[in-house]
Formats: sequence, structure tokens, C-alpha cells
Amino acid sequence: MVSQKMYALGANRSMIRELFEYGLQQAAIVGPENVFDYSIGNPSIASPVEVEQAIVSVLQEMDSVKVHGYTTAKGDVETRQAIADDLNGRYDAGLRADNFFLTCGAAPALNAVFRALTLSEESEFIVIAPYFPEYKPFVESAGGKLVVVEADTEEFQIRFDALEAAIGPHTQAVIINSPNNPSGTVYTAETIGKLGELLRRKGEELGHTIYIISDEPYRELVYDDVVVPYIPAIYENTIICYSYSKSLSLPGERIGYVCVPDCVEDSGAVYAAVAGASRSFGHVCTPALWQKALARCTHLRPNIEAYRFNRDLLQKGLHDIGYRTANADGAFYLFVQVPNGEKEEDFWRRAKEKNILFVPGSGFGCYGWFRLCYCVSADTIRGSLPVFAELFANQ
Ligand code: PLP
Repeated sequence: MVSQKMYALGANRSMIRELFEYGLQQAAIVGPENVFDYSIGNPSIASPVEVEQAIVSVLQEMDSVKVHGYTTAKGDVETRQAIADDLNGRYDAGLRADNFFLTCGAAPALNAVFRALTLSEESEFIVIAPYFPEYKPFVESAGGKLVVVEADTEEFQIRFDALEAAIGPHTQAVIINSPNNPSGTVYTAETIGKLGELLRRKGEELGHTIYIISDEPYRELVYDDVVVPYIPAIYENTIICYSYSKSLSLPGERIGYVCVPDCVEDSGAVYAAVAGASRSFGHVCTPALWQKALARCTHLRPNIEAYRFNRDLLQKGLHDIGYRTANADGAFYLFVQVPNGEKEEDFWRRAKEKNILFVPGSGFGCYGWFRLCYCVSADTIRGSLPVFAELFANQ
């Protein structure tokens, strides 16, 4: 006998994996240049060269027993201090090493925070559509409930009337993800300000703190003059989950953190619960070599020129055909409305028949849209545009 809940999570194949395998099969038949796989958000730019140099210098300079040994569960103090210094330099954030708990990327960071804040099976975590679908298994495995607030499909900011209606006595936190996967939009300081005011007011009414869980793996991937606000400066009860998977193109290396700033109410207790939650799922420490390398790399920023180029090419190409898209201000996703009022599933099927592969919007709680990951080659984008034009014209 096995847990049916875990069996279902493991046995249900992910759509992205299925599309990936389908793409490979089709490439063998029609040629790779005729398959346009926009389904997976794997960074397509190399990490800054300094990251590799940092790894080499750590290996050359440090005692190998120390390099490969266990660290404390929360991570080396030097690494946590380097992260604090970087954020303090950018946001005047007043952070200390002790505000950080290193994790194997954003996914375990989120899992630890959901577990830390789940009080009972009634505990609710609100998310605003469109949203990263893994929040659901994460929250449910922690023992809580995910409550979805309908998308604002005009601006992809927040529908405050719907959010207010969703907040109730069991609301523990609102999850935000900006720059957003899948919409690519960034919440403005005004949106975060209004969110903070609402959560303060509702928290007072309900007699308990409502946290923001800010999932920020795309924080540094923004284009033009778009600014990602530092959320704890606007709303004090904010817990940050961060990852270097996207910003330093290191998704396979598994390094990120939870940050519980001092301004969070009972921050010491929240931090201890995050540590306890991590312990409960067997987290010992993040890879030690990467911690030591990261201590030398927190000041590095990605060179996002290739993503910006792809975004412009794809967005302009689709707009010229007549498609409507969300404002793609950040991350590497373009969220596109299914054109001409066609059913999402019909459009998705027709696109797949023409070897354009993507995840439909209902996978992110936003029916009638679809997500294109533009961390692909510019040739893929150029080759796909005439096919998108055919799909638009021949419904
Ligand atoms: N949160 C969002 C919004 C993501 O898009 C992803 C990965 O794609 C994650 C969290 C998980 O990231 P990580 O690789 O750091 O676990």
C-alpha cells in the first residue's frame, strides 16, 4: 500500500514533460527546425563566467574536507551575510545574516514557509491567478488549502474586490509572484501598497497577522525601466522565497533562501518555524560547494539581453498578427490570449498539430490564455511566427 495522495502526485505525468517528449518525436519526423517548443522555463543564457571562476577558486583555495562537509542547516554565515550585504546595498533593507535560511531553491523555500504557517487543515493560502501550479501540491502537502483569486486579465495586477472577498478567518497568507510566471507582469509599487493596506486592515479586523509570501525567483529578470519593489519596505509582514535558478541560470544546482526580515511580527518565531519545517522534510543543508561559491557571487546580475531580444521579437510578431498579450515586463514568459474567442483546448490542439507546443492558461488558473516560454532560440521564434499567423487566420 502507498499513500494515494503521493501516488497521484508522482504518477500523473506533467504536461510539460509530455510536450517535451512529443516535441522530440516530432523533431525526428519533421526536423527540429519545424518544432516550436515553448513549454519549459529552463534558462537559456549561461551563468555569468564569474560563477564558474568562483567554483574553481573555492576548490583551489579551501580545504576540501570543509568544502564538501555539512554546514549548519541554515547555511554558512558568510554566505548569508553576503546575501544580506547585497540586498542592503540595493534596497537599504537593514538585513542581517540571521534573517536568511538557505534552501535548495525556491520550491523547498516555499514548502518550508507553507508548513511553518499551516496551523490546521483550515489554514488558507490565497494566490492570485494566473499562478505557478506547484503552489497547490505544496500547500496541500503542508496540510493547508489553496484559495485562488480570479485574474485581472486587463492589467494582470490584482482584483482587490475579489481578493478582499476571499480573505477570511483562516487566511494565513497571500502568495505573490512578481515578475510573474506565467504572465511576465510585474506588480507596481502602487499595487503592493494597496495590497499592504488591505492586509493591515483585514488583519486588524480578524485579529491576526496575514503574511505576504513573496516568491521572487525572477526578481532580477526585468526589462526596460521596470522596477521590482522591495516588498517588506511596503508591507512589513512579508516573507521572501528566493532562488538563483533563474537569475544566475543555476536551476540544476538548487540554491536559494527564505528571508524573514526583522519587521515581520514575531520574526524569531517565524524563522524558527521555517527551520523546523525544513527539518521535518529532512533538509540538512544546501549543497556546501555552492554555498561557498555563492558567498563570492551575490553581487552578480544576469545579462538578460538575449531574453529582451526574444521578448521583443515574439511580442511584436504576435501583436502584428493581431494577438493580445499581457505586458511582458519581466521573467521569460509571454502570456497570450487565445484569439477570436476560440476555445482554449481547440486552439491548443490545433497548435500542437502544427508543432507549436505550450501550456494552456487553465494550467495556471486562467482559462482562455496560453503561456509561451521565450527562453528559446531566436530562430525558433522566427520560424513559429508564420505558423501563429496561420493559426490566427484559420480557425
Ligand atoms: N516559483 C516560481 C514562480 C517558479 O516559476 C519556479 C520555477 O520555475 C519556482 C518557484 C521553483 O524554483 P526553484 O528551481 O528555485 O525551485
